[in-house]
Order: sequence, then structure tokens, then C-alpha cells
Amino acid sequence: MRYAETGYNLEIDLSRGNIERVETDPRLTELHLGGLGTSTRILWDRVAPETEPFSPENLLIFSSGLLCGTPAPGCNRTIVSTISPQTQLMAYSMMGGFWAPELKYAGYDKVILRGKSPNLVYLWINNDKVEIRDASHLRGKGSNETAELLRQELKEPNAQVAAIGLAGENRVYFASIEQGRSSASRGGIGAVMGDKGVKAIVVRGTKDINIARPVEYMGLCSDVLRYIHDREQKPIPGVMPILAGLGSPQEMRLIDEEWHTTNFMWGNSRTRRKDFWTKEIEEKWRETQESTRTRLISCYNCPMKCAATISVPGISTYMMKCFSKLTYTMAAYSDLDFGFRIAQRATEYGVDGFSAPQVMAFALELREAGILKDQDMQGMPTDSEGKFYWLLDRIVRREGIGDVLANGTYWAAKQIGNGAEEFAHNNIKKQEQLPLKLGMLNPVYFLMYSTGEKINITQIEGQFPQAPFLTKEETEEFMKDWIQVPDEKFKDYLRKWEMRGEFSNPNYPDIQASCDIVDWQEMMHYIDDALGMCAGLSSFPLKPPYHIHNYPDFISSATGFNVDEAGLTKITKRNRTLVRAFNVRRGMRRADEKPPEDHWKKRFPELEAKLLDAYYKFKGWDDQGIPTKESLKELDLAYVAEDFEKRGIIQNGKN
Ligand code: SF4
Repeated sequence: MRYAETGYNLEIDLSRGNIERVETDPRLTELHLGGLGTSTRILWDRVAPETEPFSPENLLIFSSGLLCGTPAPGCNRTIVSTISPQTQLMAYSMMGGFWAPELKYAGYDKVILRGKSPNLVYLWINNDKVEIRDASHLRGKGSNETAELLRQELKEPNAQVAAIGLAGENRVYFASIEQGRSSASRGGIGAVMGDKGVKAIVVRGTKDINIARPVEYMGLCSDVLRYIHDREQKPIPGVMPILAGLGSPQEMRLIDEEWHTTNFMWGNSRTRRKDFWTKEIEEKWRETQESTRTRLISCYNCPMKCAATISVPGISTYMMKCFSKLTYTMAAYSDLDFGFRIAQRATEYGVDGFSAPQVMAFALELREAGILKDQDMQGMPTDSEGKFYWLLDRIVRREGIGDVLANGTYWAAKQIGNGAEEFAHNNIKKQEQLPLKLGMLNPVYFLMYSTGEKINITQIEGQFPQAPFLTKEETEEFMKDWIQVPDEKFKDYLRKWEMRGEFSNPNYPDIQASCDIVDWQEMMHYIDDALGMCAGLSSFPLKPPYHIHNYPDFISSATGFNVDEAGLTKITKRNRTLVRAFNVRRGMRRADEKPPEDHWKKRFPELEAKLLDAYYKFKGWDDQGIPTKESLKELDLAYVAEDFEKRGIIQNGKN
């Protein structure tokens, strides 16, 4: 009997219309757990490095995490992975909501799509019955609209639907996959779904999941629920409000946006507005938020309620959470009301709420600078908000200049030329980032941004405070019950860290401390992504309920494997290294690992080079960021080393 996982994947060949239920190898679960881990292994084994994102040979994998569908609170992530049209590297984007648990209840761990359907289709997974169905009547429909129409058509009000909108159908490089209560947005995975001719995947499942030691497991789940409850009563003093509690940043609850509106750049990462936030704005935004937020909602089996349903008069209700509350507003130098309105249209079109506003603001800057001409913008309204709606409509339809902008700022700038590349100044590995520009280089963030391959800052940072506390007392108070640290040395690192002076950024955390901190944070994200755990209850917030000390018990009692901390650390390192190896095989090298030039005002090229050298070494990679033969062997990845040797990535047994 298989525990925690179902032991079956659905393999769907869209070119041939073939559907297979395939039993998986339990040994791979022991090596990689599930979710991102096993998906990366499938991509490594089956997608050759020359494969283009829009090739039929590219796979699009929808995976549940190993513990999804079990009673572990907050364990509901769907991990979608493929080759990104934006970065040409592996994209892996997570969505919360309800889809992954439903897939497990239908009897599958993953849905693996290959080939391309000649016509637009949707997939209907109803327990053992799986069909590829015509979706021509859904062409051009919004993502939420599609979900609603399909639930009615199938007479299944409880089915979970992951769908693309017009942006995905038209292969916009920052198209998302939307799922009612969440979305998988980064890396243009919606474009790959559209390219494969799949409008939606509908799932309904009513089966059970087996747990190896259920009584023990339920005890662990109760402990976590109790901890969440207690932790919610104790917000952490001395940190910004969105980081004081648990969950995704609680944007739908919070009104106070002074930190974001003051510290993030407006427009296309262009201007900081230090005096924007006033009492009047706060009152106005409170009224907007409270009058449009109809209710706070949670993902599957989670008490946190991080998201909200938003109902703006005259347009249909949609879900919002996290920082997408501000991305359109700030890109357009506008108001919260505008942000809520345009986000509804953008959600129906299915675009990434981080990239889309940046691309539109980039276009307007190019117009102002005379790089884009009147003829490029014919028919564009004169008011700022009207311009954003106009651009959004053109981008998702790939009409006129929208066809160029639909490829994101990196590719669009190359295509436009004439100095446009100067304006695409916010990219990491060819993908737009959050418009955060800071003063002094933070060595921990430098390493996370440079080497992270998830291309989403909120999915890299985590359990170590983002800045030192202002007083010694606050630091000591914080450390009293900091049980999540893997090692006491992290307390010393925090204790020593100061706002100013010898032990402040950029020289402190020092190189060793920076490597340790980044490694810890990254490890937690990779565990979450294999298990399907929401980062909001584990890798992202301070003092979360899940951590390196209780995860081995969760995994062991759910699966029946005996995993301890050292074993889990090794599995995670294996998964992380395999993602790197996959991207290295696609050509990623040290030169690609750099944050935007203007991310920090003050840069320290020598220190940055030393940090990168040290981190690569620490991870078992060579000076180009390529995993060494020895480190691959240690992680049972000798087949990767062999492949590297065959391709000349490693020569004469040496990197
Ligand atoms: S913490 Fe928030 S985002 Fe995470 S599962 Fe719970 S409700 Fe969803």
C-alpha cells in the first residue's frame, strides 16, 4: 500500500489524445519526496535540454505535494512546472486553493501533459473517469468565467478548475493559470498551457488517502493548529506589520500600506514617493478596501484566511491576496480603487499580477522617452488609468504593440531596440521582479536574488529576520522561543547584526553567515515545494509552525519512511541540486546570476564576487555555479554527472 501519495500519475498525450494511468516508482518518492522534487526528476529524464518552451516535447506538469490532501493544515499547493518561455529555464510556480488535494482524492499525484492538442480542449478528471473534451465554446472566456461555465456544464459545483484566460490562449509570456482562490503566475506557465491547447483542467475526487501512522499524524496536526492559534495571539514586535504574523502577507486584512508605498518604487520601478502615505490616503483606502472586500477566505484546510473575495460594483467577484493588491495601483501612480478594478480584468485574462503592471508601465516610459511612437499607441486614451486598460487589452490579444509587450520587458526591449533595454532595468534571469530598489546592499538578499531559481522573491526569503532589531532587548526577546533555528549559530548571527557600524550591511552578515542563512531559507522552501506546504506556514514567515525539527516526524508518520533531519536535509539538497543541474544543462551560468544593476544604490563588486564564490563552494558547485562531480555523487545524482560529462559540461572528471 502507498501512504500519503496515491502512487499514480495521469499521463496525457495531447497530440494523440491518449490518456494513461501510470503507477509511479516508490523509490523516487524516497529520493525526492514528491511535488517539485519528483517533477524535476521527470523533467530531467524526459525533457532534452534543447527543448523549446513551445515544443510538443516540453512537458507541463501539475503536481500535488507529498502531503497534500492529508490533514496537515495548509498543505494544499499545486506545483506547476515546465520550461518557461520567459526565462527559457525551468519554471515552477505554486498555487494554493483546493486543486491539488482534489487531484489526490481523484486518485493521482500528478497530471503530466505532453504534445499539443490540435483543437482547444479541457480535461475532465472525475475519479477514475478521465476525458479530453472539446473547449471551443470556451475560447476567449475569462478564467473565472470558464471555471463557472464548466461547473455548470458538468453539473459538478464542487469540482476544482484550473484555467487560463485569453493571455494563456495567446501565449503571453507572463500568462498565469488561475484557480478561483489562487493562481500559478510566474514564468509564463499559462502560455505553455495555452500552447498545448488546454483551456482548463477540471478535477473531482472522492477517494481517501492512506496515512501510515494516523494517530501519530493527527497528533502532529493538532500541535500545529494549536501553535498557529497561539502564534496569532503574539505578533512579533519590531518588524513590519505584514511580517508580524503567519500566512501570506496579510494584505487583505491590513490597511496600513505605508511600508510598501514608501519603500517600493512606483511606475516601472521608477520613483519612490516618500510622502505618499498620509492620514487622508489611509482613510480613503480603508473605505475602498472595506467596501469591496466581501469576505476573507482560506485555501483548503487552513485557518489563516489570507485572501479575500473582492466585489467592485459593476464587475464580477474575484479573489485577491498578497501584494497584487498594490502592483497595478503603484505601476499606474493611481489609487487603490483602480487597482481593485483592473485586477479583476487581469485575473479573467490570466496574467501575472507582478509582471503585467511592470510591462505596462515600461511601455508608457518608452512612449514618454520617444522610443515608442504615436503610431505604436494609436487609439490609446490620454488618462493614466485608461492607458493601462488599453495596454492590458492589447497585450492579451497580442494586437499591435501589445504583441511585442506580451513577451515581457526583457524580450520586448530587445525587439524594440533604440535604447529600450535601459528601461528594462528590473529583470533577474530575464523575468521582471518586484519594483523594490534599496540603498545598501544586503549580502543575504544578494545571494538569494542571484542564485534563486524560483524567480519570485517571496518564495526565497524566509525565517531569518530581514533586518536587525532596533534594540538588544527586542533581539533577545525574539530569540527566547526561536525554536525553528536548525542550529544555535543562527542566534549568534542575529545577535551580532546591527543597523550601523562594523556589524551592519554590506559586510555583515559576513560571508559564512550569509551562506548559512540563505541555505537554511532555501532548504525550507524546497521542503515545502516537495510536500505541497504553503510557504505562509513554513518557509516564509518568522517563527512558523512547520520547521526542520518537526517536518521529519510529519513525513515519517504520513509515509511510513524513516526520515530524520539529516535525511531530510540530504533529500532537499538533492532536489535543489537537480533543479540547478536542469538549468545548467539548459545553459545557465554565473553570468546569469545577478540582481538588477540598480537594485541597490550602493554596490560592492568585489564583495559580491566573493559572496558568490563562497556560496557556490558551500553548495558544492564550481565557480560557474555548476554542481561538481563529487557533490553530485554524494547526492545520488551520479547520472547527472555522467550526462554533464557526455555534454562536455564537466571535462576529464573535473568541472
Ligand atoms: S496560510 Fe494563507 S495562503 Fe497559505 S494555505 Fe493558509 S490561507 Fe492559503
